[in-house]
Amino acid sequence: MKEIFLMKLGEIVLKGANKRQFESKLRSNVRRRMRPFGNFDVYLMQSTVYVEPMDEEADVDGAWEACHSIFGVVSLCRCRPCEKNLDAIYEAIEAYLGDDLDCAKSFKVESKRSDKQFPLTSIGISQEIGGRIAEAHPDLLVDVHHPEYTVYVEVRDLAAYVHGPAEPGAGGLPTGVGGRAMCLLSGGIDSPVAAYMIAKRGVEIECVHFFSYPYTSQLAKDKVLELARLVTRYSGRMTVNVVSFTKIQEAIRDNCPEEFFTLIMRRFMMEISQRIAKEDGCGALITGENLGQVASQTMEAMAVTGAVVDIPIFMPLVGMDKEEIVTIARKIGTMETSILPYEDCCTVFTPKHPKTKPTLGQVEKAESKLDRQALIEDALASVEKIQVRYHDEPLC
Ligand code: ATP
Ligand code: MG
Repeated sequence: MKEIFLMKLGEIVLKGANKRQFESKLRSNVRRRMRPFGNFDVYLMQSTVYVEPMDEEADVDGAWEACHSIFGVVSLCRCRPCEKNLDAIYEAIEAYLGDDLDCAKSFKVESKRSDKQFPLTSIGISQEIGGRIAEAHPDLLVDVHHPEYTVYVEVRDLAAYVHGPAEPGAGGLPTGVGGRAMCLLSGGIDSPVAAYMIAKRGVEIECVHFFSYPYTSQLAKDKVLELARLVTRYSGRMTVNVVSFTKIQEAIRDNCPEEFFTLIMRRFMMEISQRIAKEDGCGALITGENLGQVASQTMEAMAVTGAVVDIPIFMPLVGMDKEEIVTIARKIGTMETSILPYEDCCTVFTPKHPKTKPTLGQVEKAESKLDRQALIEDALASVEKIQVRYHDEPLC
């Protein structure tokens, strides 16, 4: 008999009137994410998403792995469905979980009966099934407080399901329920983590990357596209807008006081990102900024760079320590790529003594020789839109 996945919904079960919309978003997200793995039926009942392989060709292990990165799921388990009677439940446990039970010293059975027509209560099911297991495995102790292994029995509407311990899901809210936002993605450690964190709150992600060829290389661009690809494991496919930034950086270098280089450059990034964001229906920008990490990340600097945009700027890492950010980067698998040694355009014309407490007046004066709008239009004309999906080939 086949194996299916049960995925329990997280916070979304609490969302009152929006619940239906959230559930249907999650169901369609799961359907789309299962597509590369073959033919799966995906349905949702009783706050649970069921994922059922429909034929022998389905890549069940690949699908199982992918289910761990779908937002909106708090826990998931592989289980075996069976008929709703004690004999069938017990037989399914022996066939499906017998090896796990043989390896354990103690066990308990935990049951849940959402089909209230079933003649036994949850406790009754656990006692009956637990008794049969104990009888068949004389060396296995029953321990209801600290069992080494727990057998779960769920008697639901369609069938009964037996499984071992569930695994944690990706958490968060289903992608798409929170709108769409544009992440400024560099090749560093922080911005991919920032994209992931906002994606986790149900937001569809699009990215923008500023690229200064020939000061930065094709390898640096590939690295950023690879980081975006790694983020799509969680966020789902995305568009990366690659913007040529060379002319703007050269204009800043030739016309502005050095101590303001980074600030002025970042103001261009924000304004251009906002323009693309608005065109593409994004309601916010996301950056990997972190208070105090570098000279451009003081409150004063953030005020000056934020002044050129009028949509919200999400900075999910603003109050975190580097160590905490690195822990997430490792967990989501972006760290190894982030530390590849290719330069970012931010590091190309770095001032020796950057201004850490700028005022808006000072910065506006420092950039007054530039024709900002012409430079921005020029950069926007250069935008290359690249589609990125997790199942694409890795780029580095
Ligand atoms: P990261 O590790 O994300 O590069 P950082 O600590 O190096 O961050 P900065 O270089 O000051 O910090 O950049 C701050 C934020 O500005 C980044 O997190 C990112 O959101 C954005 N950013 C920096 N460089 C680029 C770029 N070349 N293209 C797009 N966004 C960028
Ligand atoms: Mg950086």
